[in-house]
Amino acid sequence: MQSYPPSLIPTQPVLSFGSFLGGARRVPSVLDAGNCRFVTSGRVAIALALKQMKIGAGDSVMVPAYHCASMIEPVIWSGATPVFYRINADTSVNLDDIAAKLDGTTRLVMATNYFGFPQNLSAIRTFCDARGLRMLEDCAHSFLGEHQGKAVGSWGDYAIASSMKFFPIYEGGCLVSSRNALGSVQLHSAGVGFEAKVAFNTLEDGFEYRRLGMVKALLRLPMFLKNFVWGQIKARKPSTSQSMAPGSSDGGFGFDPNWLDKRSSYFSRLMLWLVSRERMAVLRRKNYLRLQDAMQGLPGVRPLFPQLPERVYPWVFPLLTDDPQPVFHMLKEAGVPIIRFGEYLWPGVDASVCEHSVDLSRRVLQFPCHQELKQEEIDWMIQKIKDAVLSQASPTT
Ligand SMILES: *Cc1c(COP(=O)(O)O)cnc(C)c1O
Repeated sequence: MQSYPPSLIPTQPVLSFGSFLGGARRVPSVLDAGNCRFVTSGRVAIALALKQMKIGAGDSVMVPAYHCASMIEPVIWSGATPVFYRINADTSVNLDDIAAKLDGTTRLVMATNYFGFPQNLSAIRTFCDARGLRMLEDCAHSFLGEHQGKAVGSWGDYAIASSMKFFPIYEGGCLVSSRNALGSVQLHSAGVGFEAKVAFNTLEDGFEYRRLGMVKALLRLPMFLKNFVWGQIKARKPSTSQSMAPGSSDGGFGFDPNWLDKRSSYFSRLMLWLVSRERMAVLRRKNYLRLQDAMQGLPGVRPLFPQLPERVYPWVFPLLTDDPQPVFHMLKEAGVPIIRFGEYLWPGVDASVCEHSVDLSRRVLQFPCHQELKQEEIDWMIQKIKDAVLSQASPTT
């Protein structure tokens, strides 16, 4: 694997003073969908949802052929068999394909609101109800949003979200249910070392991209203490140090069932409470639209979605490229952050399973549009994308 320089602008939201400043309009989110438990990642929430539904060995689960490993690993962990269904070129669920693949073992349909654009959730709900199937709504990309006037996350028997994809936090996922009580999900703190680490890592990220100015000076001492204490904890328990880090959204850690009974940190839950969802919604749309406008007319690339509908609050800006590799390489060399959801499909998922998934997996590059990007950072990113795309269109020989 090739190594690239670190991103020059933050790939994920980082904490700034602005994070807490509100906006006027109330924006629906998964937190409005029903009962909610705060865990450390979206993948852990998937595993808990399967556990609540008592899905396991002998059962099969319909999962999209366009996915990331953290959607499939919890299914494998549960003992159930994942069955990959086709999605259409616009990322919508292909219900005909699910219908064709159903058998007596099918218990659940998992549906993902890719990049923040809701699926036709009411149609999937109707489909599942007609066949006695459960529905798991994967809102990892859609913390915010609604479908037919109801918050995302309301349509599934259970829904999951990955709060760390939207908030300036180091860990966090949600298990949500509009239909079931979640009181039987027992959670407890992962310990004081974890609590401290999570808080300070978030602040450190804020400093790294120069978001928190003077606070840095004030926090130098506690930061030193935290590194010291953390070093001591690690030195004492070498075998458990890895599992002190929850699986993060960048796929570094995989799925670890040890996190199933761990509550999200106080710090992350505080941030979910304090960080403005309205500002997040407004700025994500604004940044997305700037990227979308800037890509118009560029050769060999186009936005995956032709437009940004009202009341969609995107996770990232997905750009469909004809020839992704040279552009990807140039941009990564230049320090431009690129996210590649779905880059690696589960073994066996190839064009014979779903040609659209394979195509999206290869061709879609995703750029951040999160609320903590500064105007000049987006301008810089846009210029770099244009340079890279145009250099490919007219190679200087
Ligand atoms: C990231 C992601 C998950 C898992 O969320 P984590 O918080 O990273 O565990 C689930 N589904 C989709 C579509 C994702 O992109």
